[in-house]
Amino acid sequence: MSTIKNIHAHRILDSRGNPTIEVTITTASHSGTASVPSGASTGIHEALELRDHTKSFHGLDVQKAIHNIHHKIKPKLIGKNCTQQAHIDQIMLNLDNTPNKSSLGANAILAVSLACARAAANSQHIPLYRYLHQLFQKETNMLKALELPHPFMNIINGGKHAGTKLAMQEFMIVPTGKTFHDSLRMGSEIYHTLKEIIKPKYGPQAINVGDEGGFAPPLTNAQQALDLLTLAIKKSGYQKQVSIAIDCAASEFYNPKNQKYHLHKIMSSQQLTQYYLDLIKKYPIISIEDPFHQEDFHNFANLNKLAKHIQIVGDDLTVTNLERIHQATEYNSCSCLLLKLNQIGTLTEALHSAAAAYNADWQVMVSHRSGETEDTFIADLAVALGCGMIKAGAPCRSERTAKYNRLLQIEEELTTSKKQMIKQKN
Ligand code: PEP
Ligand code: MG
Repeated sequence: MSTIKNIHAHRILDSRGNPTIEVTITTASHSGTASVPSGASTGIHEALELRDHTKSFHGLDVQKAIHNIHHKIKPKLIGKNCTQQAHIDQIMLNLDNTPNKSSLGANAILAVSLACARAAANSQHIPLYRYLHQLFQKETNMLKALELPHPFMNIINGGKHAGTKLAMQEFMIVPTGKTFHDSLRMGSEIYHTLKEIIKPKYGPQAINVGDEGGFAPPLTNAQQALDLLTLAIKKSGYQKQVSIAIDCAASEFYNPKNQKYHLHKIMSSQQLTQYYLDLIKKYPIISIEDPFHQEDFHNFANLNKLAKHIQIVGDDLTVTNLERIHQATEYNSCSCLLLKLNQIGTLTEALHSAAAAYNADWQVMVSHRSGETEDTFIADLAVALGCGMIKAGAPCRSERTAKYNRLLQIEEELTTSKKQMIKQKN
């Protein structure tokens, strides 16, 4: 029933209109389909996304990766059991045999890895989040309760995700409603309130959106963005339930030549640290991602110590990679791992990365990429890991809302099954 009969890969477009890969794995009775996203502010230690570098799609075509799936991966996986995720992933790792998956391409490997999990869940007639929940326990011996995450919604886009002078990349609201439905409603209301604030202040062009669906007004510094968010939260009446998170993506404004950060003004690491401490004092910030460049374990650690009550998130620093996570735990650089499947390239490795973060007493936040597809895998993954946090962009644009809408569906399913259990008990 779970024996892999066929693997088919083809090219689709991501939310930026660039090519990416979708794979369908077929067994005798079921199938599973998954696609892979793509980042813009990618960390240098991420697994390699294989692109053709030919004329097609301005060099971004993925025919080589698709060829690798059909001619290298498929022959090795036909006849294997799709419920043996770790075994399937290991076969691909052995076949690739490079430290960063540069032979087959992490995009090729991940698309197969995720489609395999979907086929397995379907063959067992269980929702993906339940399958991933069991798989996480089987792989890591760690049992987390199924939990709906709080959404981290990026509603002002800067950095590489917008064409403005705002150096920092993401300004997020974090609604913490009693239910996910509630959180999403608050997030959407604030988003539309923000639109009404931005339009008269900066003109109608300012309500055009960036890569992750957030607005991209012509701002030049973080305080302006944080003032807008604070006002939108206040006007919506949600000061008590909604906090703010930022992703600085600092590697993008770090200049290795002078070893300084080029924001609205040029800052040293010490000045930037003080800048963050001042922002934390002034605004209801609960989480800061990538505050320093991707090799700076020390300044991450310093901020982590100075701002104990704030979550410090590793993204480009840790790249969902066990070795980098262990380095960061040694330095005490972070208190949260940003988990991005395509940074590492197999589901099994990503599950072990999440477990390593939990073992270090960190939090885990599951994340989308700025170039997304309609695939909702990460919504199921966030629930399965019980991590309580998902970063999936603004409550706008279908590739973002697909994830939030899937979470609404999961919440309804879980509430119904809970009610049924109570009814059966009585
Ligand atoms: C991020 O930096 O957290 C992010 C989602 O952006 P990208 O996908 O461009 O790396
Ligand atoms: Mg980031």
